[in-house]
Amino acid sequence: MPLLPLSGHLTTRARLAQGLRSGRQPQVLLISGPGGVGKQRLALWLGQLGVCEQRDAEPCGRCRPCRLVAGLAYADLHWFVPIPRPKAADPDKAIEEAAQALAETMAERRSAPLYGPPDGMSSHSMASVRLLHQRASLTAVEGGRRIFILGDAERLVPQESSQEAANALLKLLEEPPPGSLFILTTVDPRRLLPTIRSRAVPVRVNRLTDEDVREFLKAHVTPALAPAALEERVALAAGSIGDALAAGEDTSKAYHAAEQLIEAVLAGPSASYERALRQPPFSARGEFTALLDALADTLSEAARGTLGHPTRRPVPPALLGHGNPAALLRAVERVAEAREAAYGNVNPQILLAVLGEELAEVL
Ligand SMILES: [Zn+2]
Repeated sequence: MPLLPLSGHLTTRARLAQGLRSGRQPQVLLISGPGGVGKQRLALWLGQLGVCEQRDAEPCGRCRPCRLVAGLAYADLHWFVPIPRPKAADPDKAIEEAAQALAETMAERRSAPLYGPPDGMSSHSMASVRLLHQRASLTAVEGGRRIFILGDAERLVPQESSQEAANALLKLLEEPPPGSLFILTTVDPRRLLPTIRSRAVPVRVNRLTDEDVREFLKAHVTPALAPAALEERVALAAGSIGDALAAGEDTSKAYHAAEQLIEAVLAGPSASYERALRQPPFSARGEFTALLDALADTLSEAARGTLGHPTRRPVPPALLGHGNPAALLRAVERVAEAREAAYGNVNPQILLAVLGEELAEVL
């Protein structure tokens, strides 16, 4: 199944196409903007435009390179997404593992082009950076432009353990090989190393319109949503197709778990510890980070609610009468810290027990 069409961002597209046609296109771009608005899809669009045999403002979609890109099968398009950290200690084996994991992800995207955000534990590890470097040092297979996309670039793990890998990446971005185009995407440029950020030309994208989100859901969500459910999703999405898609079942589960956790914290230490002990220790990391994300979102929605703003989703009754937005925002901060810690090798039970104590202090 080919890539789904790109929604919205018409002004940005026109500007990028003009840059490409004029030959003044910078070789390293950093696309930033809210989650789920299609930043990586825009990067793929630009890559496709860069190799299309026609020289129009949009990829023609019919020529051989266009069709190969749409099928994620163009040999000179390298799409790097966060993957689980390779287990092998040997650097060469780790690179092989990373290549394998990326190939599997691409195969999944070919068969199911609607994808969610990466698992909370996935990253661009040192092995991915080495693989990128290896691929960048090869010559073009197709003889045209070579495209390198690094999605969710804030997931680049700090490479302090290997200065060599860090320098290799920086050098690559500083002097990209001729005929190559590097496109990084991120929700928040401030989370990138300044040395990386300073080497890329920023491209800022905005939220989509409700109409774009509605059209996308109508065209690509099966079974089709009933009109009321469709409008509810569009409203929840606030211009993010990713959020609209995530408003399905798994997310509801995470929000339900977050609500129970808040109730446990408010019920006192023993309920809170009991909840922490129920958390599976190391399995299902993705579910655990989804819980933390839902928790942060619920607390910030509650803060919005206490300030009299409309909330995007129902706030648990226990938080409704809270009335102290500052305390709620401090709680969000604690959750964000726990989220960072969850990247490391910390037992989720312990993390949750500590977080429960911290939340009890501020709430
Ligand atoms: Zn084409």
